Amino acid sequence: MIPDPWRDGVVAVVGLGRSGVAATRLLAREGARVYASDASDHPDAAAAIAQLRDLTGVEVEVGRHDLDKIRAAVAVVLSPGVPPDAPPVGAARAAGVPIISEIDLGFRALERSGTRCIAITGTNGKTTTTALVAHLLQAAGVPAAAAGNIGRPLADIAVSSERYQWLAVEVSSFQLHDSPHFAPEIGVLTNLAPDHLDRYPSVDAYYADKQLLFKNAADGHVWVLNADDPAVLDLAGRARGRRVLFSLKRPADGWYEPKERRLRLGDTALLLRDELRLLGDHNVANALAAALAVRATGLAPGAIGEGLRSFTPLPHRLEPVREVGGVLWINDSKATNVASTVVAVEAMSRPFVLLLGGRHKGEPYTRLAPLLRDACRLVVAYGEAGPIVAQDLAGRVPLERGTTFEDVMARARRAARPGDAVLLSPACSSYDMFKNYEERGATFRRLVEAM
Ligand code: ADP
Repeated sequence: MIPDPWRDGVVAVVGLGRSGVAATRLLAREGARVYASDASDHPDAAAAIAQLRDLTGVEVEVGRHDLDKIRAAVAVVLSPGVPPDAPPVGAARAAGVPIISEIDLGFRALERSGTRCIAITGTNGKTTTTALVAHLLQAAGVPAAAAGNIGRPLADIAVSSERYQWLAVEVSSFQLHDSPHFAPEIGVLTNLAPDHLDRYPSVDAYYADKQLLFKNAADGHVWVLNADDPAVLDLAGRARGRRVLFSLKRPADGWYEPKERRLRLGDTALLLRDELRLLGDHNVANALAAALAVRATGLAPGAIGEGLRSFTPLPHRLEPVREVGGVLWINDSKATNVASTVVAVEAMSRPFVLLLGGRHKGEPYTRLAPLLRDACRLVVAYGEAGPIVAQDLAGRVPLERGTTFEDVMARARRAARPGDAVLLSPACSSYDMFKNYEERGATFRRLVEAM
């Protein structure tokens, strides 16, 4: 599996989270010499990192990267968590050292064992669609797992003795950039919108990386594409393989029939909209994309419908937590930008109180005002962004300022009436009050459960 040039030198593994640890073990097993480093000392992963030190040919460094060693490496293996603008990445690129993602490394190892991959990429909905694909396969009894950014690193599966028939692999544009050998048999492109413009020089450069999904396209491959998104169809172009389309607007290979409120694969009914336990039309699109992907593996429509019925929302993504006195409390803590909050608000089918705030990321909130006019009973603005939210929305929607998170929740509770929802979809990052969005969502849940 290790290319010959790698045997003449040292491979640098950058980032020692779970992926980097697994990549190091995989490389050592294949007989490569490795320099594995991480800028932080990962107290959580201390034991796993310590074990690496016992492997033959492996040098481990935590707390810093030795950029000279990285520049002198024959190749760099990059963990998904390492930002593309991190100094070791820049040093490697400037020195002309080939960079490959942990996904590419893991893929090459797994390919030999007959594991097949379904890749999921796109601007939004990657995680949900990946989880759906893995769930649909597992529910039908197919040995399958979610891998990549969610679930297990591919290299981790490759070094373990477990074998899956299919892996649902979530891949970002950055990972596609560094995955020259990645050749999924089935690929899903959920949608495209400008994103990551802090890290790409232009939208075209971002889309060009997404297009690498089709780089190794071959006859027999299947591409699941969003027919409602012209940019997606455009990007897929004439990639080799078969294309199957999903649409919320018109009949397609996978589509939503609004009169009967039913999800369909062609003429075949899958399930009723109300049987899907996910809020929002965007999740109908994700469900259709996942259904087409697993259909391409040979799963029968009956099994797909059954699997969709039993899928429960992922934590922190429009996750209904509990109904208290007729009020449904919904945790969408993952919504850390205005676009995500727009999607959440559009998914509301009851009057709602919206909890908005946290650390401001620079986008105005005015875009929300027209969407809040009809059904939003109250906005509670809080956190560092509170004054800006208030400035953007006060006078256009009923609004109160909250202080602590407990105070925010108490205000929501007072304002909501039976039949309403309370939606935590903050449009901001959480770092002013919490460690991360998961902690924010968990706090929301804890306070709801204590009601
Ligand atoms: P990703 O992994 O691509 O960030 P997630 O499944 O975690 O995607 O969803 C993140 C957010 O993106 C959701 O909270 C929602 O606001 C939005 N989203 C999810 N699916 C879609 C979709 N199909 N179209 C548009 N927005 C979506």
